[in-house]
Amino acid sequence: MAKLAKESPVHERLGLASAEALILHLPLRYEDETRLTRLRDAQPGQAVLVEGIVSHLEILTRPRRQLLATLNETGSNVPFYLRMLNFYPSQQAHLKPGVRLRLYGEIKPGFFGAEMVHPRWRVVAANTPLPDRLTPVYPTVAGLSQLRIQNAVAAVLLSADLADTLPDAIRAGLALPAFDEAVKRLHAPTPEDSQVALETREHPAWRRIKFDELLTQQLSLRLHCRERERQSAPILANMRGLTTRFIANLPFPLTTAQKRVLLEIQADLSRPHPMHRLLQGDVGSGKTCVAALAALSAVGNGYQAAVMAPTEILAEQSYLKFREWLEPLGILVVRLAAAMKGKARLQAMAAIADGSAAVAVGTHALFQDEVSFKSLALAIVDEQHRFGVEQRLALRAKGATCDELAIGYDSPQSSNLTPHLLMMSATPIPRSLAMSYYADLDVSVIDELPPGRKPVATRVLGSARRDEVIARLRDYCKSGAQAYWVCPLIEESEKIDLKAAIDAHAELVAELPDLRIGLAHGRMKSNEKSAVMSAFKAGELDILVATTVIEVGVDVANASLMVIEHAERMGLAQLHQLRGRVGRGARQSTCLLLYYEPLSETARQRLRIIRDNADGFVIAREDLRLRGPGEFMGARQSGLPMLRFADLEADQDLLEQARDVAARLLEQDPEAVRRHLQRWLPRGGDYLHA
Ligand code: ADP
Ligand code: MG
Repeated sequence: MAKLAKESPVHERLGLASAEALILHLPLRYEDETRLTRLRDAQPGQAVLVEGIVSHLEILTRPRRQLLATLNETGSNVPFYLRMLNFYPSQQAHLKPGVRLRLYGEIKPGFFGAEMVHPRWRVVAANTPLPDRLTPVYPTVAGLSQLRIQNAVAAVLLSADLADTLPDAIRAGLALPAFDEAVKRLHAPTPEDSQVALETREHPAWRRIKFDELLTQQLSLRLHCRERERQSAPILANMRGLTTRFIANLPFPLTTAQKRVLLEIQADLSRPHPMHRLLQGDVGSGKTCVAALAALSAVGNGYQAAVMAPTEILAEQSYLKFREWLEPLGILVVRLAAAMKGKARLQAMAAIADGSAAVAVGTHALFQDEVSFKSLALAIVDEQHRFGVEQRLALRAKGATCDELAIGYDSPQSSNLTPHLLMMSATPIPRSLAMSYYADLDVSVIDELPPGRKPVATRVLGSARRDEVIARLRDYCKSGAQAYWVCPLIEESEKIDLKAAIDAHAELVAELPDLRIGLAHGRMKSNEKSAVMSAFKAGELDILVATTVIEVGVDVANASLMVIEHAERMGLAQLHQLRGRVGRGARQSTCLLLYYEPLSETARQRLRIIRDNADGFVIAREDLRLRGPGEFMGARQSGLPMLRFADLEADQDLLEQARDVAARLLEQDPEAVRRHLQRWLPRGGDYLHA
């Protein structure tokens, strides 16, 4: 980026779209220069304004070069000192004996008496009136002085259009101050405005600004929704016959919740506009089965469905399930794996292109290749929250249009159709996020686990007790139970972690020679891995040592113990997912979380949360609290326009009001909507959501 010249306009240097945008460049905090403090009244640690006359100036050379000015406090003649370790000759020239200074800073007890080190100071004439407003301190960039920003803001406040974008009736109903009043107050509060209320952003003026920001977000989301309603999607009529046959083939009946969400999805699919639905359900609630039924609607109507998973392993798991369920109905399911090369790959791509493969399963990356679908009607994104923000944005931004996915229809008649989109996640969206960033999504919730699942007893143990755990494993497995031993796989250090799993396996084999112990990790060939998994499933292994591969979809009811090493390194969602792999059989299940010191404060809290909670919703809410919404969505790194002023958790009441007002304004006052968005999103930006 080109460096901006010093004399560029202030708004440009701050990266703002226009001078008007300075209105919303709000102070970080304030300094109170509205009254003089006597030296004897100054509190330690508090910045104050004092005044005095320079009586003496010297440049010391020891212990280091510095400037020391002696001043006498106006009105009392108590001496105090101004000390500067860095100074310019020009500054020195101002400090002649006899000049009057106003200094703002912290008074400290010094060697000779009270002193200020590097305060803000200026020369004043006698009886210069004090300002009657608090002095704003703005976010700034290197080399741009507060004074220049203050002047630029003051000028804009005089010239800009500060007319309210909220109709009076609505504003009065919410008891919020007018926009011009609010911004003027925040740029220049009076000493009577509580500094606390200003800092905690509870001041009515702050509430108005936060409301406006949330309103912007709500308006932009709703406009997005409308845009989607204008797009066309293939109408997928409900295929009763096929659905009945599919369900009849399942080894279990669907839960009530699965049936309910299926009806919700089918209703969406039968409309001529693209579905945007999130299917949310705790680990093990049976989302895959619902997804396969949705895919069946596409296939039954002569279209194709695509299933996208965040990792190859998860893609493989889904592929196997889809095949198991759909192939008996004569439906061809293909997998596109990164490892597939040459002929196999070309064959799969050809089947997708000519439509003979009705369902394709793979990772997102594969769908960005030159894969072309004959007639894609439904895109299913599994474990949606585990995709990177960029990928999710790409999927969401344009309603997952064919262009975005680099997949297209080859027949011209259908080329303007947008596929339906079904996203799935085991990480529930906390209410505040659901109302904001995800507000334009329809959500279906599977709020019921298949019968027979039992809560898992969770214990947190220091690594010092690892030997004890290993010893107890013997008795446990001798009684007929099976156990998982999980070594986390953290992407950045895949090799080291892989070694950790291999070492752990060797160690367990040495310590427990009478047990049958297998090893599974992501680097194994898929047939080797499948062999180990099947052996474990068949009860031919007592212990399965694994990297987090088992996080996805292994389903062994007889496994009732899970040991997780380095649990302190894992996120809450991941721990919850892993733990969901036990507790499926008749036996009481246990999860042991082994941690290694040093333990950060957040890691400590995470372990406590996972120990004390079984409900994925509660865990997600705590996760949000620990990480904040930006981190929660992985958005902080993405440059996603996050809220600048409002806080989703703290300002929930404003969020609800903003949602209602957005609906009313769009209905009754499109001109107000236009003006509001113009003010808040001058670049035509968007509150996209990931
Ligand atoms: P998730 O929602 O975590 O993706 P899965 O779809 O992998 O869960 O389902 C977990 C396990 O539960 C699978 O083995 C699946 O076959 C099984 N399952 C799904 N629905 C039911 C049901 N209604 N009754 C019993 N088992 C079910
Ligand atoms: Mg799943």
